[in-house]
Amino acid sequence: MPSRSLRVAVIGAGAAGLVAARELRREGHAPVVFERTDGVGGTWVYEADADASASPEPLVTQRRSNLDASLRTNLPRECMGFLDFPFVAGPDGDTRRFPGHAEVLRYLQSFARRFDLDGLVRLETEVVRVSRETSGTSWRVRYSRKASGSEKRETDEEVFDAVVICNGHYSQPHFADVAGVDAWPGKQLHSTSYRVPEPFHGQVVVVIGCGPSGTDISRDIAGVAKEVHLASRWSLSATSEKLPGHANMWFHSEIDRAQEDGSVVFHDGSRVKADVIMHCTGYKYNFPFLTNDATVSVDDNCVDPLYKHVFPPQVAPRLSFIGLPLKVVPFPLFELQSHWVAGVLSGRFKLPSKDEMVRDVTAFHSRLAARGWPRRYTHRLRDREFENEDWLAEQCRRGGPEGWRREMFDAAMQVMVERPENYRDEWDGGDYDHLLAQANRDFAAHCQRP
Ligand code: FAD
Repeated sequence: MPSRSLRVAVIGAGAAGLVAARELRREGHAPVVFERTDGVGGTWVYEADADASASPEPLVTQRRSNLDASLRTNLPRECMGFLDFPFVAGPDGDTRRFPGHAEVLRYLQSFARRFDLDGLVRLETEVVRVSRETSGTSWRVRYSRKASGSEKRETDEEVFDAVVICNGHYSQPHFADVAGVDAWPGKQLHSTSYRVPEPFHGQVVVVIGCGPSGTDISRDIAGVAKEVHLASRWSLSATSEKLPGHANMWFHSEIDRAQEDGSVVFHDGSRVKADVIMHCTGYKYNFPFLTNDATVSVDDNCVDPLYKHVFPPQVAPRLSFIGLPLKVVPFPLFELQSHWVAGVLSGRFKLPSKDEMVRDVTAFHSRLAARGWPRRYTHRLRDREFENEDWLAEQCRRGGPEGWRREMFDAAMQVMVERPENYRDEWDGGDYDHLLAQANRDFAAHCQRP
């Protein structure tokens, strides 16, 4: 039985905040979820955003939503869902294996309904400051919300026993450094502003980055643009290549510089006169509400020091972060991290001493440095993701991600690279039937639970 029941502030009502609230309440705590927008679901709330769809716009620093209109998941739905709340197709809605964004939002909303979470969420309430009380164990949370009956905002404060940060990391865009870009006359934008391809009709577009966003957006734009040039630091080729199956797409090495005459010059020596540079270069961690009391800082996109990407050793367990890792299957990871945090807060699971946690973090950074990895790769788990989840599951004394889920994830990552054009629609070709059958057996077993 839990030995402590705490009042906990959860910042954000996306997938991470929702599952954190569920796990905290299951453990006997009293969570209050702060959400700055008017609904739950975080990233998966699509905003058509008139400005961005009407014309390419200048650089923006922050957006509430960053989904494009045609975005579909890059994981099969069975693999993507929470461990004990299957993301299966219902009679209504989008039944595709890689559904569109609206289906994910529906899933998260039904998760909130099923576990009666909506009542825990304070909508349109933005946390603006989190500071530690002098007692050292509790946290003062200052928030701003719309005053009742008026458009004005008012601020208020409350003290909580603990704070769980679930504010997401896809809203503060990271832009590539392009030499000479200040004098270059074209338009620049970040994938966060991209909604629909039409504004790029007849234009020459350079897309920087070939992760999931760069790959999907460049193909979307190619349907209407005159030319699309993908620039990637991962290009193995020394020269530009035409992308097979496309009359108007090229693959280049990194951009060397942009010039006043409108040219973009690549490292391979090729150049194009471009109208637009689209930065599909990811996002930055950002915690504008945190004071120095949190004892963490962000340097080269590494949040440090953090024990197992979750707890700052000096203030653990009363402050924690859910959802920082990248290149993972997010929802199951959020669920395991949340379960761990909830159990540590109640006293059911034990953390090592502060010194041991600090030593663990230092050793972790040394291992990354020995591999030659920059600090910004700290939270990229990719090949270590299931190792991390198994570790979390062991701490929580429960099962981790199932075998079929791991195989599905690996298969999805592979086909995404091999067949970026059509992997989502060609998945149901028989190769993965055994994994889907196993998934459905597991789901049936979960659904039979009282
Ligand atoms: P978010 O969804 O960003 O939620 C954070 C919430 O915190 C938001 O609602 C925000 O308003 C709120 N908030 C922030 N600051 C404050 C504050 N100060 N006060 C109050 N509230 C605050 N994952 C997959 O599993 N499959 C996919 O196919 C997939 N595709 C993706 C495609 C794109 C383009 C992007 C950007 C991400 C994709 N992801 C995908 C990852 C996705 O972000 C995660 O699945 C997950 O939704 C992240 O949830 P989160 O709760 O951590 O963050």
